[in-house]
Amino acid sequence: MLYIVSTPIGNLEDITLRALRILKEVDYIACEDTRTSWVLLKHFDISKSLISFHSHSGKAKTDKVLDMLKNWKKVALISDAGTPWISDPWYVLVRDTIQAWFEVVPIPWVTAAITALSCSGLPINHFLYLGFLPLKKWRQTLLTRLSEEKKETVVIYESVHRIEKTLSDLETYFWKEHQIVIGRELTKKFEQFIRGSIWEVQEYFCNNPWKLKWEFVILF
Ligand code: SAM
Repeated sequence: MLYIVSTPIGNLEDITLRALRILKEVDYIACEDTRTSWVLLKHFDISKSLISFHSHSGKAKTDKVLDMLKNWKKVALISDAGTPWISDPWYVLVRDTIQAWFEVVPIPWVTAAITALSCSGLPINHFLYLGFLPLKKWRQTLLTRLSEEKKETVVIYESVHRIEKTLSDLETYFWKEHQIVIGRELTKKFEQFIRGSIWEVQEYFCNNPWKLKWEFVILF
């Protein structure tokens, strides 16, 4: 059995009772970065064999997990934060596990996109989740299409390295007055929602450059 276990996106109190039970019960925990997961597991006094499994893990790693499942072992999959699969590199393992006829069980809870949407104040009956915007040629195509066709709230992820570039691209493809919301450091000590026009948000970061740190969800 392979469990896809959501872990907190910042605040460790956000872990669920079921996630804790499953992490204690399984034989192995596959994780993106063993150092990051070790901190989480230590906090909850969970000691397990960890297998690193990340975007560069090849077929050999997937086969290793499948071998464990064949030997009736229980494996939990966690990412560095939030729900594995949501802009994380788990797709191949889950696909191959399903194809090998093993059960895949979701242990759900939090994801940064939904957390940001819930307090955005934007319409969220329908939304379009795009994860990280592509970096190269598809970026322009996608932004052009969004500026022409977008009807629902769009959610994207952004890192500290590209937040300014992405805001500047949004300013190019949308009106300066287009309203956006940025969820920053969600569930953490310095959680912040920044709301306003693209231009106002850029101005805010210009005046408060130290706020250009850590992790962001952009909604527009
Ligand atoms: N699996 C995660 C989830 O369920 O949301 C997403 C992982 S993705 C590799 C990392 C990106 O998620 C960050 O660059 C940021 O855009 C977003 N993110 C994750 N945690 C966040 C937080 N606490 N506050 C704001 N954004 C966050």
